[in-house]
Amino acid sequence: MKISWKTLLLLSLPIVVAGFFLWQGLLEPATQAISTNIANSRMTYGRFLEYLNMGWIKKVDLYDNAHTAIVEAVGPELGNRVQKIKVELPVNALELITKLRESRVDIDAHPSKSSGAIWSLVGNLLFPLLLLGGLVLLLRRSGTSSSGSGQAMSFGKSRALFQMEAQTGIVFDDVAGVEEAKEEFQEVVTFLKQPEAFTAVGARIPKGVLLLGPPGTGKTLLAKAIAGEASVPFFSISGSEFVEMFVGVGASRVRDLFKKAKENAPCIVFIDEIDAVGRQRGTGIGGGNDEREQTLNQLLTEMDGFEGNTGIIVIAATNRPDVLDSALLRPGRFDRQVIVNVPDFNGRKAILRVHAKNKKISSSVSLEVIARRTPGFSGADLANLLNEAAILTARRHKDSISMEEIDISIDRVVAGMQGTPLLDSKSKRLIAYHEVGHAVVGTLLENHDPVQKVTLIPRGQARGLTWFMPSEDKNLISRAQIISQITSALGGRAAEQIVFGEPEVTTGAGNDLQQVTSLARQMVTRFGMSTIGPLSLENEERSPFLGRNINTGSKYSDQVAIDIDYQVYNIVDRCYKTALQIIKDNRILIDRLVDILVEEETIDGLHFRNIVAEYTCIPNKPNYVSQLSASE
Ligand code: ADP
Ligand code: MG
Ligand code: ZN
Repeated sequence: MKISWKTLLLLSLPIVVAGFFLWQGLLEPATQAISTNIANSRMTYGRFLEYLNMGWIKKVDLYDNAHTAIVEAVGPELGNRVQKIKVELPVNALELITKLRESRVDIDAHPSKSSGAIWSLVGNLLFPLLLLGGLVLLLRRSGTSSSGSGQAMSFGKSRALFQMEAQTGIVFDDVAGVEEAKEEFQEVVTFLKQPEAFTAVGARIPKGVLLLGPPGTGKTLLAKAIAGEASVPFFSISGSEFVEMFVGVGASRVRDLFKKAKENAPCIVFIDEIDAVGRQRGTGIGGGNDEREQTLNQLLTEMDGFEGNTGIIVIAATNRPDVLDSALLRPGRFDRQVIVNVPDFNGRKAILRVHAKNKKISSSVSLEVIARRTPGFSGADLANLLNEAAILTARRHKDSISMEEIDISIDRVVAGMQGTPLLDSKSKRLIAYHEVGHAVVGTLLENHDPVQKVTLIPRGQARGLTWFMPSEDKNLISRAQIISQITSALGGRAAEQIVFGEPEVTTGAGNDLQQVTSLARQMVTRFGMSTIGPLSLENEERSPFLGRNINTGSKYSDQVAIDIDYQVYNIVDRCYKTALQIIKDNRILIDRLVDILVEEETIDGLHFRNIVAEYTCIPNKPNYVSQLSASE
C-alpha cells in the first residue's frame, strides 16, 4: 500500500482537530497523575483489548474521566512479570467498563486534579504529536502488512491468540471408551506420518475432520492425542475467539493461524466450538452477522487454498452439527465426520481405569461398580468424579480413596449439593411416605431396578430421593420395564393419597408426573407400545446433543391425536391403580419403613430389601406384575 503525503495530511487533519479539543483541559490532569506514576511504557487500545481477552490484565486504573488508563498486566509477552502500562482509551469507554467487569478485572477510577502549568503545556503539545506519530507508524505498518484489509488501528493484527503445543504429550491410551473414533484416527496419524504412502498411489489426503459429540466426551483430548501420536505440533483456537467486536478481526486471525500452521507443517489445527463461526450463513434473525460470515469465508478459503499434501489436517469440534453451514461439510473441507458419544458401560469402565491410574484408590473400590452407577456420565464427568473423591479423601486425611468418598461424589454430581434434612414434622413424614412409596412399589414390582437407597436428605431441588440401581445401559428397554418405571414413579403420589387422603396430596409429585406422562406418551407415539399399533407418530423429542426440542410438527390426523391422548391416559391410569393397590396391601410394611427412615434419614438398598422381606410372603421376590405388562 502506497501512501502519499497528501493522504496522510488529509487523514491526520481530523485527529489534530480532535486533539485540539481534547486539549482544552481534558487531558492535562491525567498527564500529571500518570507521569508521576509510571515509566514510559504504553500500548495501543487494540493491544490492550487483546491482552484483556487473554486474561493478562490484572488491574485498570482509570484517569481523567476514563480517557486514559494505567493497566497492570502480566503475561508471557511481558516476561511474566507485572508491568504498569499506559493506554489511551477511546472517548466512549462505557462498553469497555462493562467488558472489564465481565472479565472481573479490578477497576479503579481517580478523580481529576488541577494541574501544574508546565505539565499542562507538555501535555498539550504531547498529545497531538503522539497522535500524529502513531498515525504515521500505523500507516507504515499497514503499508507492509500482508493482510491489506485496511483495518483501523492495530485490531487487525492478532498476536498469539491461538495456542501452539509443540508436543501434546497425549497418546491414544489416554483416551478411552471411544474405540471407533480411535480407529478412524489411526488413519489420520498415518497420513501425518507417511503422507508419501498415500500420495504415491494418487490418494488425496483429507484436509478436515469434524468431531461431533456432547461436551466432555473427549473431543479435545482426541485431537491432542492425534497430534501426540504423530508427534506433530498442535495448534488450537476456539471458534468463539474468532468472533470479535470488530469486523475483520476474525478473518485476520484465521489467516494468521494458517500462516503459522503452514510454517510448521505437518501439524494439526484444532478449531474448538466451530459452530460459533461455522453457523449457516445468512440465517440470523434481523440480518446476518457480517463478522462471523467473513471469518467463515476466510476459513473456507484457507482450507481450499492448501493442497491435500501440505501436511496440515484441520480438526474441528462441535456439539451443534445441526447449525453448521453446509459449505463446511463439502468434500475437500470437513468431509470426514467422527461421532464421539457418551460412553457406555464398558467405555466408562475404561475411562475410569485411565483416570484411576494416577490416584491412590483403595483395593476395596470396584471401578465396575462405579461404572454401573454412572450411566449417562461423560468422560469429563467421570474424571471430575474421581477428582472430587480424591479431594474429599484428602480433606478427611485418609490415605486412599474408598467407596464411601466415591459414593458421596456420585450423589453430588447426579443430584446436586446436599442440603440439611428437615426436623421431624408432618412434612418430613409426608416426604418419607412419598419416597417409601416409590421404593416399595419399585421393589415389589417385577421388571424393576433394585432400590439402591432411600434418603430424606435433600439434594438440589429434591427434598427426598429414592435411588434405583440402574442394572445396565438402557439402550433397549422392554415394555414391561417402562410400565414398571411408570408405576413406581407414581408410587410417591399413591402413598401420599392413601396415607394422608386426597385433600392432603402435595405438589411434591410434580416431577414424577412429568416423567410419567412423557414415558407414557413415548410408548404410544414412538415405540408402538399401545393399541394404536406399531407406528412412529412423533420423532425423538430431543435432538441428540442439543437438549432442546426440535419442532417436527405432527403428521397425524386429529382423530389419531385423540386416540393418543386416550391411550396415554389409559396407561397412566392403570399404572396408578397398580401403585395404589401395592400401597394399600403393604400399609404395615410402609409404616414401619417410614418410622425407620424418619429416624435414620437414609436406608440403604440391602437393609431396605431385608425389611421388605420380613413383611412380604415371598421373600426377595417381586409379588406384583403391573396389570398392563401381562397382556394387552
Ligand atoms: P470435549 O472437548 O469433548 O468437551 P475434553 O476433551 O475437553 O471434552 O474432555 C475433558 C476432560 O475429560 C479430558 O481432559 C479428560 O480428562 C476427560 N475425558 C473426557 N473424555 C475422555 C475419554 N474418552 N477418556 C479419558 N478421559 C476423558
Ligand atoms: Mg473441548
Ligand atoms: Zn417422587
